[in-house]
Amino acid sequence: CNLRCIYCMPEEGVQHVERSLILQEEEILRICRVMAELGIRKIKLTGGEPLVRPRMPQLVEKLKNMPGIEKVTLTTNGVFLKDQMSDFARARLDGLNISLDTLDASVYRQLTRRDEIEAVRRGLRTAIQKGRMQIKINCVPVLGIEEQKLLEVAELAKNHNVHVRFIEMMPIGMGTQFAFVKEDALKHALEEAFGTFTPCGDVAGNGPCHYFAVPGFQGRIGFISAVSHKFCSECNRIRLTSEGFLKTCLQYDNGVELKTILRGGGTDEDLRRAIGQALAEKPKGHSFEKKTEFTDREHRGMSQIGG
Ligand code: SAM
Ligand code: SF4
Repeated sequence: CNLRCIYCMPEEGVQHVERSLILQEEEILRICRVMAELGIRKIKLTGGEPLVRPRMPQLVEKLKNMPGIEKVTLTTNGVFLKDQMSDFARARLDGLNISLDTLDASVYRQLTRRDEIEAVRRGLRTAIQKGRMQIKINCVPVLGIEEQKLLEVAELAKNHNVHVRFIEMMPIGMGTQFAFVKEDALKHALEEAFGTFTPCGDVAGNGPCHYFAVPGFQGRIGFISAVSHKFCSECNRIRLTSEGFLKTCLQYDNGVELKTILRGGGTDEDLRRAIGQALAEKPKGHSFEKKTEFTDREHRGMSQIGG
């Protein structure tokens, strides 16, 4: 990733992965094709930072043309977005999540350890102007950083047709070192400022976000609250890491190495069998609330497993 968000990556000592160990485009496409044959309909490209990888619009276009795939969306920090926005629109990307935790330049620098807020703002502006797709802002509130000014972030949904989603900090990787802001407390503060929130189900999403309509707002305000509003019973999400490991739950390292099958000459049937078995063993849910250590708990950081 080209940022170093304090709750996601360490400042120093990031271990880089050799390029040969990263899935190539054809390998990603093959796994997605097998997944689509098994019934997967929606794909989100995330990371790490997806836009540091070359040819992302081309990958989106190929996924969009894949039989069975109905929706392709992307989550980005937005730094490299501006110059690629037209290509993503042309590739018919269905939705774009842009992470922006604050509008304040110095707090942004403190949170991401990089000076890129202007690039992100340009990316967001271009996306709003040229996007032709639903744009959502991801914001992770960090307890104790009042200067993050969450009301200002929320107001993006007032002034533009974008949805703003507040994500509770999850105790994964560097996230274990920070306290999370509870949805109920934040919602209360937002309602005091903007008026009563009305639950609404009119936002098509792939995931666990619940949305509210706010008086006078063009977009919706949403909350993804894995800690205070656990949603594991409805989770049908699986993740493919850039190194070809299929993860079935964010918190545990359960899953299967698909790259070994791909590169060991495995057939599509081998892939299907491995995927099916991993899915059958998908954990019932996370245990973020428990303080005890589990031996099978995910040891990698969020940027390595696709938050
Ligand atoms: N680099 C891209 C970005 O920042 O949007 C995509 C990957 S990033 C891991 C995806 C999302 O996960 C971002 O919105 C980020 O803020 C969020 N995130 C990272 N670590 C988190 C944590 N410990 N708890 C909750 N959300 C986290
Ligand atoms: Fe920040 Fe996303 Fe990079 Fe993590 S992967 S450091 S959340 S920009």
